[in-house]
Amino acid sequence: MKRLVVKFGGSSVGTIEKIKKVANIIKRLSESNEIIVVVSAMSGVTNELKAKSDLISKNFDNKELDVLLSSGEQVSCSLLSGALIDLGIKARSWLGWQIPIITNDNYTSSQIMKIKTDEILNFISKKGVAVIAGFQGISQESRITTLGRGGSDLSAVAVAKFFQTDSCEIYTDVDGVLTTDPSINEKAKKIDKISYEEMLEMASLGAKVMQPNAVQTSMIDNIPLHVRSAFSEKSGTQIIPESEVDYKKVVTGIAYSKGNAKVSIVGVVDKPGVAADIFEPIGKNNINIDMVIQNTSLDGKKANITFTIKREDLKKTLSLIEKNKQKLNYNKITQDDKLAKISIIGAGMQANAGVTHKMFRSLADEKINILAISTSEIKISVLIRENLTQKAVKALHKTFGLN
Ligand code: ADP
Ligand code: ASP
Ligand code: MG
Repeated sequence: MKRLVVKFGGSSVGTIEKIKKVANIIKRLSESNEIIVVVSAMSGVTNELKAKSDLISKNFDNKELDVLLSSGEQVSCSLLSGALIDLGIKARSWLGWQIPIITNDNYTSSQIMKIKTDEILNFISKKGVAVIAGFQGISQESRITTLGRGGSDLSAVAVAKFFQTDSCEIYTDVDGVLTTDPSINEKAKKIDKISYEEMLEMASLGAKVMQPNAVQTSMIDNIPLHVRSAFSEKSGTQIIPESEVDYKKVVTGIAYSKGNAKVSIVGVVDKPGVAADIFEPIGKNNINIDMVIQNTSLDGKKANITFTIKREDLKKTLSLIEKNKQKLNYNKITQDDKLAKISIIGAGMQANAGVTHKMFRSLADEKINILAISTSEIKISVLIRENLTQKAVKALHKTFGLN
């Protein structure tokens, strides 16, 4: 008998009808496998809870936010267990603290350190289906934690690791990992096999189908993932080691993220320590800097430093820079907060010259201006105006033969 962890996302348990459907999938799987289920909150619920906390305060206490946001999974995990019991299955729900799933105390984006396994192992060895609430854990000071948005993917990977399951199945509302987000390009195609590295880039650069931390953990611990549809029988996407993927295309997928902002600090003195003086206070305030560009004047005395951040961090970032004005001694700051980052990802790029110019030409043909560029071995990202996102994704999807 195989031991499986099956994770159902919010989109798969978004209605009572869907929960009943999922219960039937689990019933079928449980006939010949030991099953541990990980479930997310019903779709939209976590956002609604977050919106409520925002009405109290934009700086709502992180520990209380975790108690609030984790409650969505308590609802879905009891409904699913109840639906299984109703089908005559022996099932039981477990919240993070009951297992327990021990995390560090990095509230709102905690890391899982350990999962106690004996009680659940005993239950599933006696034909029970264990239903675990995803996205949540408990810190060493006995307070509820959550794993960052989309974090039930990480719960599933951690369960696969600690329970040494034979397989980790991520059920969602699309057929698998696609060449791009189908909600922006109907020509998106399913990818049969993708490497951890490429999936990590896709996820980090905006492909919501997998949470980046979950992919990173599966890569470190070599836990193959199978992303598939909860609504069809089709085989989905295998996320596996690079050595097992046969690259036929230069570009595997295209990702995008909206809500980017760009800040340019114009006319700072070009000397050692300036960049550190700019970025240190920003980093200390937990604001992530993404792209950075510096250009120096011809006489080498002054520089302009441009960087990108998330739109919601713009106000705070500007006030941090302004506070530092005397030290930085710049001429002015310019900003733009309606930008998107479009990325092409593919391990096949490493062996193929000319990908960069092909990308830029494709965007130029659509009259899309590139505002910043960043690259790594397996990806090229460009910053463009947000309202051109769909046009850019569609053009690149076609250019790189993914249609
Ligand atoms: P779940 O509720 O199952 O966790 P998510 O909403 O988190 O599902 O992720 C699935 C969604 O991710 C899809 O509906 C799709 O719109 C979006 N998505 C973005 N990029 C991709 C991609 N490359 N492949 C598949 N889905 C993607
Ligand atoms: N419910 C959580 C969220 O919306 C976790 C998840 O869906 O994976 O972020
Ligand atoms: Mg998700």
